[in-house]
Amino acid sequence: MMLTRFAPSPTGELHLGHAHSALFAYKAAEQVGGRFIVRIEDIDQGRCRPEFTQSILTDLAWLGLVWESPVRCQSEHFNDYRAALALLEGEGLLYPCFCTRKDIAEQTARSGHAPHGPDGVLYPGSCRALPMAERMARVAAGEAYALRLDTAEALRRVGLLRWHDRRAGMVEARPEMFGDVVLARKDTPTSYHLAVTVDDALQGVTLVTRGEDLFAATHVHRLLQAILDLPVPDYAHHRLLTDASGRRYAKRDRSLTLRALREAGRSPDEVRAMAGAGPG
Ligand SMILES: [Zn+2]
Repeated sequence: MMLTRFAPSPTGELHLGHAHSALFAYKAAEQVGGRFIVRIEDIDQGRCRPEFTQSILTDLAWLGLVWESPVRCQSEHFNDYRAALALLEGEGLLYPCFCTRKDIAEQTARSGHAPHGPDGVLYPGSCRALPMAERMARVAAGEAYALRLDTAEALRRVGLLRWHDRRAGMVEARPEMFGDVVLARKDTPTSYHLAVTVDDALQGVTLVTRGEDLFAATHVHRLLQAILDLPVPDYAHHRLLTDASGRRYAKRDRSLTLRALREAGRSPDEVRAMAGAGPG
């Protein structure tokens, strides 16, 4: 049976763009008699606030969405992400990177060329070659580090990967365009890429719906599925809702939060129509 999810981060109030995304996921399940869940992606404890989690759930219920309990909050499941990291560590696919942003900028400047990936300048891989003894000594000394995926080695083991998107069709996975992605940091035991991939598998999500701004991230998620031996869901990356001038909705558009629209007297049907989902 189809299972879709809406997975917001509680860093602010929901706006019309979120409503579009939530309704997109909801309707995809509803059309085929499938199931729908809400997941709170709150691994960034510095930016997420519990009061926003509550307002998100209030807004979604007001919009008329019904989801299955319980709502999974990622911050309560760090052990699941640690377990996935331990598995990858055991496979020899992770390495600690001690570079600061400044270090990486200097390394890139020295090398004279700065290849870019979807997230910016590609990490040049300097720490991949550190001798094991040095790695262990620096970790033991309490130095800050990130755990990076050895993407080339992972790809060598799993070979060619594909995934399916409902708009783009079959897509050949090219995670190498992200380089050696960070999967965890010393103080945050997971990254977006790892947490979302693990959760979608653990929760049995069969259709991942999200904005097309996250299309490229799916290349990384497909590789993580392969090396963690997780099932591969179907994907539907939707267009982002924009205002009349073509701008994406964002947190700065305070008058277009669902709360503001509700308080201004708009009905759920009106807001659903504004979110491009039509009434009912
Ligand atoms: Zn490094």
